Amino acid sequence: MAQNRRILVIEDNPQNLELMTYLLEAFGYTTVTAVDGEEGIEVVLREKLDLIICDIHLPKKDGYEVARELKRDPVLRRIPLVAVTALAMVGDREKVLKAGFNGYIDKPIQPELFVRQVESFLVNRTDAESRL
Ligand code: MN
Repeated sequence: MAQNRRILVIEDNPQNLELMTYLLEAFGYTTVTAVDGEEGIEVVLREKLDLIICDIHLPKKDGYEVARELKRDPVLRRIPLVAVTALAMVGDREKVLKAGFNGYIDKPIQPELFVRQVESFLVNRTDAESRL
């Protein structure tokens, strides 16, 4: 299923970053990483990506700012953008979606579910091609 797909993970917590990239790579995905929102945006501008996973609480630019910035861009907005965060309140979930995220995955990450959760946000490449 991975088909050489590149996923960017923006996360400032080293343990979480390592867990997410380990799981994605175990399933055949190529990962690119960034440790704050500014670096995350730089990577998006530089790399060709199939999906972006983004923490909310990040140094320099938080996840909300990253989402607003990416979703303002007519090309970059097409890349699926998924928040990974511990959200206790229903209001936080609404705020995440309102900022432009396509969805969210709850922390703590569940290793046995994580890749399947991510894949639910990946655009099926054959579908995307047939729409052209
Ligand atoms: Mn964080």
